[in-house]
Amino acid sequence: MSQLTIDIKKLRHNIQFLVQYCNRLGLEITGILKGPGLDSVILHELISNGVENIGFSNLPVNKNYDNVFQKKPVFISLPSLHELGDMIQYFGTSFNSELSVLKKMNEVAIARNKTHNIILMVDTGDLREGVLPENVVDTVKRIHEIKKLRLVFSGIGTNLGCCAGIIPTHLNVDILQELATRIETQLSLPVKTVSVGGSVMLEYLKTNPLPEKINQVRLGESIFLGNIPTIDKKHENLYDDVLIFRSDVLETSEKRIDLPENLGKNAFGYNPEFKHTGIRKRAVMNFGIADTYPAGLTPVNAGLDIVCINSNYTVIDFTDSREDLKPGDFIEFKMNYMSMLQSFISPFTCIVFKQQTDE
Ligand SMILES: *Cc1c(COP(=O)(O)O)cnc(C)c1O
Repeated sequence: MSQLTIDIKKLRHNIQFLVQYCNRLGLEITGILKGPGLDSVILHELISNGVENIGFSNLPVNKNYDNVFQKKPVFISLPSLHELGDMIQYFGTSFNSELSVLKKMNEVAIARNKTHNIILMVDTGDLREGVLPENVVDTVKRIHEIKKLRLVFSGIGTNLGCCAGIIPTHLNVDILQELATRIETQLSLPVKTVSVGGSVMLEYLKTNPLPEKINQVRLGESIFLGNIPTIDKKHENLYDDVLIFRSDVLETSEKRIDLPENLGKNAFGYNPEFKHTGIRKRAVMNFGIADTYPAGLTPVNAGLDIVCINSNYTVIDFTDSREDLKPGDFIEFKMNYMSMLQSFISPFTCIVFKQQTDE
């Protein structure tokens, strides 16, 4: 039985800290949800603690966002040409970079009698989505040349630390200020929102004041994992154990580990590695790739080592542990971003909300 436990008190602490911290710097937060479910307690915690903007990376599955939100959420992935109707139906704002898609989106907005805000993404070096800085002003101009423009241009944004592993610097952050100013002066168009993200910004914010036009920061990982990605460092004011993966032992035994002479590949086509030989205490756990991303888990207790991962099993070496494990015992793990996403998505992992912190 695999569980993803969510400590609500710790989650609330992380949200409240980040809201206060960012608001003091003149930034509103867009809380980014890529795994956590829609009707979840998480959404309620975010909204009731001051994160009014919620950004989703996917269209809703069998759900109608209209019933949940007072303010329509933001679609933070580039919209697909084939899903524009649903996208506009559920989201009030989207992040964009393709003029051809925007033209089609405008037609859809007119046909459905909807308004929709657009943020133009700028690629400031992360080499993922966005138009290049030198093309931004022209693209904004061309957006406004779309016939019967129904879409509302509301600003620009950039994403750092996701693809090329680029970290924020004055070069890639200040460029947004410059671009916003140029749009306002050269095109006489207001730039309401200047959005940066993701959580990698938190390290930069500790020592660098942001230019005044940047007014939004998009945060996902830091809220749930207390971690600053890209530099992979725990944030000192945030809990890193809001989310705990928990699963039970199915088998324990002492196994003799000899290096096989003819080494084949493991279940996933990789060559197995043998860290230990001789007699070792092994526990077969009740989870695998189908339940989470096991390689991103870190056992909370010392002396436990993940040695093998399959679809439905994970094998743990507990020779160096002071615990003596037996079937039915639970082991707890902290998780990284991939483990978090996969656990939220997996139909086999049960999400359990913990109201009290055991301290
Ligand atoms: C995932 C994502 C974020 C959030 O990033 P974290 O590192 O999880 O904070 C922000 N913006 C965009 C466009 C994203 O895709």
